[in-house]
Amino acid sequence: MRRKLIAGNWKMNCLKNEGLALAKAVFDKTNGDLPFDVLICPPMSLLGQIAALPHKIGVGAQDVAVAPKAMGAFTGDVSAEMVKDLGATHTIVGHSERRAMHGETDAVVRAKAERAIDAGLTVVICVGETLAEREAGRALPVVTAQIRGSVPEKATAENCVIAYEPVWAIGTGKVPTTADVAEIHGAVRAELKKVLGTDIADKMRILYGGSVKPSNAKELLSVSDVDGALIGGASLKVEDFWAIAETQF
Ligand code: PEP
Repeated sequence: MRRKLIAGNWKMNCLKNEGLALAKAVFDKTNGDLPFDVLICPPMSLLGQIAALPHKIGVGAQDVAVAPKAMGAFTGDVSAEMVKDLGATHTIVGHSERRAMHGETDAVVRAKAERAIDAGLTVVICVGETLAEREAGRALPVVTAQIRGSVPEKATAENCVIAYEPVWAIGTGKVPTTADVAEIHGAVRAELKKVLGTDIADKMRILYGGSVKPSNAKELLSVSDVDGALIGGASLKVEDFWAIAETQF
């Protein structure tokens, strides 16, 4: 039985006061025993301060450096070891915004995932097709190729989570049909079986991300092989983030 994971990706949002207040509000909600896991991924600027607050949930980065070293001449980069040192438990890698705006290939995403795992973080690896790829009927081969190219051999159900995020659904209010979500998540798990073996693949969590809101969360999170959600915009308001999480009580 896979425990659901409700994860918030704050992206490049929140100055200090706003971010600390949001984190405290989420930590207040998540103080007790929950039947699911919760993760927030604030911007790097606030990661250390937020991770230092008392909390019982995961706190993660949104990216780590690809550089093969813990420290060195990589101006502007923050290594997985540094993220871990700040008190983080997780990191996202391969978000479509980084693939599109920073030209990150599957090989880069895979290398980042390896750095994160080696540093003792749980890595959330994002995959997903563009609108053009979906309209060309290529969503399945695109996503399964991303799984083959981005998931390292050392991935396990404990140190790795997959997030399927159709690019055209991110921040647009559009969501795939539940049948489409089921098809892709099933294909992702089948591909994970080929790459990592049945035992690991059966236990690995596959999140859905892309315009998850309180109004559609229950339906999306009940689709087979959907083991949680990666939430962008709706994670910036504690009421919305928590309303999504509450569908899982
Ligand atoms: C995201 O950026 O990971 C995301 C899913 O965004 P949104 O929920 O705003 O579509």
